[in-house]
Amino acid sequence: MPKLFFIILSVFITTPILAWDNHATMTQAAIDQSSNLNAYLNQQIPTESLADFLKTTTHSLPQKLNQIEQELRRAEAGYRPLPENLTYAPAHSDCAQDLVICFKKSLRINLNASLDAARNENISLRDALITASSQPDFGFDLYLYEDSGTAFGKYYGFKTQPLGISTTEFGTQILFHMSTYQDDPQILNFIPRLNEDYPEYRAIQYFELSRFAANAHHPYWSAVFLGWGLHYIQDMTQPYHAILSNGASSDDLAIIISQAKQGNPLPLQAFIALQTDRHILLEGLTDYILSATNDSLYRPILISALKNTALDHGLHSCEVRPGYIRQHVDLRMAKTSAEYQAMLLATMPASFVSDPSFNAGEFNAYDDLFYTDMNEAQRVQFTEQVVKAMQWFGAYTRNCLKQYKVYSPKVKV
Ligand SMILES: [Zn+2]
Repeated sequence: MPKLFFIILSVFITTPILAWDNHATMTQAAIDQSSNLNAYLNQQIPTESLADFLKTTTHSLPQKLNQIEQELRRAEAGYRPLPENLTYAPAHSDCAQDLVICFKKSLRINLNASLDAARNENISLRDALITASSQPDFGFDLYLYEDSGTAFGKYYGFKTQPLGISTTEFGTQILFHMSTYQDDPQILNFIPRLNEDYPEYRAIQYFELSRFAANAHHPYWSAVFLGWGLHYIQDMTQPYHAILSNGASSDDLAIIISQAKQGNPLPLQAFIALQTDRHILLEGLTDYILSATNDSLYRPILISALKNTALDHGLHSCEVRPGYIRQHVDLRMAKTSAEYQAMLLATMPASFVSDPSFNAGEFNAYDDLFYTDMNEAQRVQFTEQVVKAMQWFGAYTRNCLKQYKVYSPKVKV
């Protein structure tokens, strides 16, 4: 593996890359007017602590987790198996001592991330789901590698971090929230560990757990796991998360990689810097628009795109198994990558999107960018292109909800 490449990446991937910054707002809009989901979403359900959920499922949950693990080992490409000693086994005394920690270890998530719920109250399933759809960005997938500087990273089995600076917070979660599934084989051959990519792993874990919790009559955890699973599907609708080399042609990559192999890292270095800047600017400006609640022109366009059900029909049914994200959500979005790059180049100042020395990670003047640097035609062009991603975000969210929603009539509120 070319060490040089790691060093180059380490210089640039130091900034927060979260995909869509505001999953909760977007999920809320996506499910707001979906009448065929309302009966499900409006159910009032009791919140339940994770410890209580685990206490009442000690006999059935281990089997479910084992089944998920076997399926991942059998069919998920690039998957590094769960080390045997992390298998969830509540019958063992060390696991029984603290079921929550034992469960978190079996999921291989950040042990410092809080998973618990508000207590002693009933909430709507809709609210539980909306909140949960943001949660995986609150640290679940940080510091999971051997060189992340955490105790758990040393035994999770993900080896050392394939990309980015190991101690930089968001660098450590890149390959859990961004996909390389559609990247050019030239890049994957150059850096084979890019195949160890986990959005699909996460989605499978959580969708399966959601179904399990629903069937076991734990509607709160069914909704929370479903929200977590949706997060990873939703991340894939950010074009720069759907494919690492978004917008680059095979010919461009061939030249860049061959120069790097010959000892000239500069073109690769510039390419990564530009990719990172464009990625951050796309989601930063989208978030700026979505958060501008006093904007009566552009924000409503994005919100109505999230609600628009025109793309809902004809989607492949959402069965979150090995291959589902790769072959459907991710593949579709990766095909749009050239469009997004062209749009960014046409709408944003060249000093932002075509100058590798610019650092979008330190930029936050989105107000100036949108209303001063960009003219009206550019604002419209940007918004219209992002509308497409918002439509897919909404469509895939509703598609998976339809497939995974389970009513829980036995629940007493
Ligand atoms: Zn994410």
